[in-house]
Amino acid sequence: MTVHRHGVESEAPSTTAAAFELLLRVSNDGICLLDATGLCRGVSSAGARVLGYHPRELIGRSFHAVVHASSPRPDGCPLCGPAAGEFEGRALLTRKDGTTFNAACTARHLTGDRTVDERLVVFTEVDTEDRAHSATRHDTEARLRRTVAELAAEKQRSEAIHVFARQLFVTPLGDLDRTLVDQFCVLTDSRLGLLYKKDEHDAELGLAASHGLFPSGVANRIRPNQGSFGAALSARHPVVEDYSDGPLELAGRSIRHIMYVPLSEGEDDLGVLILARTMARPYLPEEQESVAHLAGLASVALANTRVVGRLERLSQLTRAALDGIVEAIRIVDPDGRELFANTSMRFLDQELGLDPSAPFDAPELREIEADPEGRTRMEWELEDRSFERYTAPIHDSLGTFIGRVIVLREVTAERRAERLQADLVSFASHELRTPLTSILGFAKILLEEGDADPEWSSHVETIRGEAVRLLGMVEDLLDFQLGGAGGFVLSRTRFELADLIEEQVSKAAQVSRIHELVFDSPHAAPMIEADRNRIAQVLSNLLSNAIKYSPRGGVIRVRARAKEGSVYVSVADPGIGIPADQRDKVFQKFSRVETAETADIRGIGLGLALCREIVEAHEGSIGYADAHGGGTVFWFELPIRQ
Ligand code: ADP
Repeated sequence: MTVHRHGVESEAPSTTAAAFELLLRVSNDGICLLDATGLCRGVSSAGARVLGYHPRELIGRSFHAVVHASSPRPDGCPLCGPAAGEFEGRALLTRKDGTTFNAACTARHLTGDRTVDERLVVFTEVDTEDRAHSATRHDTEARLRRTVAELAAEKQRSEAIHVFARQLFVTPLGDLDRTLVDQFCVLTDSRLGLLYKKDEHDAELGLAASHGLFPSGVANRIRPNQGSFGAALSARHPVVEDYSDGPLELAGRSIRHIMYVPLSEGEDDLGVLILARTMARPYLPEEQESVAHLAGLASVALANTRVVGRLERLSQLTRAALDGIVEAIRIVDPDGRELFANTSMRFLDQELGLDPSAPFDAPELREIEADPEGRTRMEWELEDRSFERYTAPIHDSLGTFIGRVIVLREVTAERRAERLQADLVSFASHELRTPLTSILGFAKILLEEGDADPEWSSHVETIRGEAVRLLGMVEDLLDFQLGGAGGFVLSRTRFELADLIEEQVSKAAQVSRIHELVFDSPHAAPMIEADRNRIAQVLSNLLSNAIKYSPRGGVIRVRARAKEGSVYVSVADPGIGIPADQRDKVFQKFSRVETAETADIRGIGLGLALCREIVEAHEGSIGYADAHGGGTVFWFELPIRQ
């Protein structure tokens, strides 16, 4: 009996046959049962489908003829030829539509007898498998390739950044602008490049460097808020312009793509880099990102040049200032090695044969060794020249001792003038004193013994008065010389200051009829220990000045008061006062206040200098202030020493 079931035809129904039929239906493999002549007796649904047939179409047909239709094989086909034996391997099979596919095939005889035996051929399309595999493989490979390419690009990028950063680092500051433009052009394949930089206090940006064109062909200055230029600055990110439709003509070139790259550091706009391509290749977003990244590095370098520039300017200013002054200056480190010397010092080094590697003089060195961070001051004579030498420690902002400054000031001319002055003073005073003493002596005799004619007496009195005044001046000169030669030797005694003041006040009162001299506080003046003659000299000078510089007369008031171990004496006059701009000079030797009012008042400018020397020799102090209602109050303060 023959049973047909779902494309499976078998002779005798049995469990085996049922199982086989089921297998043919559910298997994913192509299974085909061939009879001894190679005709198809049964086929699995999957097998027929793979070949493009309905199972029924295949039953009874030569399997060999079906599967090798497009590439007929000789009868000796090892898979399905009439004399085929067992087979295991690949075979190219033909579908109904004429296409082919590779199949992994196995063919087996069901019994041992080849002539009558049926054969079972199992085939599985391997292309599909391969396709699936190769799709996955392709996918993976593509991913791999992409990753490798990305890695290579990343490597290239970081190498470019590294090279770029190193380039910035080794470039001398003066060449930085140029290097920046060149580097950016090379890295971005840009034909042209322009760098506009902004100075700290400038509202506009100026052209700093260019690549690929003559700077004369482009704007020299640009306002920071213009077009894409300004847009890039305010966005703090590159901005691109596309001229591929109609090239932009710039400095004789046809520009197709432009990228504006802002350079900024924090809130500060440092500049804008303009890159341009003449080729039709836009600046891609990833290129813009890379450029923005590099622009960050470039901005740091530019900001550094600003700082360094500022420091350089400052140091140039300092150097110019130090070179411009007359004093010779040398700065040495803590080991005495020279760090800096100004022009004057270099000049002196040559002129005097000084050795910069031995910057200190022997006595100076001793002082410094005793107090390494102390100051020194000394007078220095070399051949016939005189110098003042100062040295002072230098500390940094943290207070660390970092060296010493040595200042040499030539005082040859001053010393010469001082010597000349002293000689002159000495000569004049000695030469004048003797005749003046005689004049005074004779005037006194004439007054005492002469005619009582009042007019005559008044003339003689004038002679005497003038002689007294001249002698006072001469004595001041001598005293000054004495003071200059090493200070006064004081001969201190204890005395009543009130008596001395009374004495000097009444003496001064005789000089002028238009002044009233008043000693206000005779009881307040204490007993003091001082050089009586010298203090008398101070009082006499202050009183005579008070009279001299109050030409319209008036009351001159002397006050004294004791306070905390010292006595304070003041002489107030209603005179012409001392203009504020000349205050510094009144205690200086030979200096006088120069105004229209003092022009007719005679003096040599020594009295107050002398007073100060005397008072300071007593460890006291002297000064003056404006008097209420006009005039001047001179005062001095002395320790009582009891
Ligand atoms: P001089 O011989 O010129 O008086 P001094 O040393 O005594 O020298 O005084 C110096 C200068 O101080 C004077 O030239 C004068 O201009 C000013 N001076 C001194 N005392 C007075 C005073 N009481 N009032 C106004 N000016 C004074």
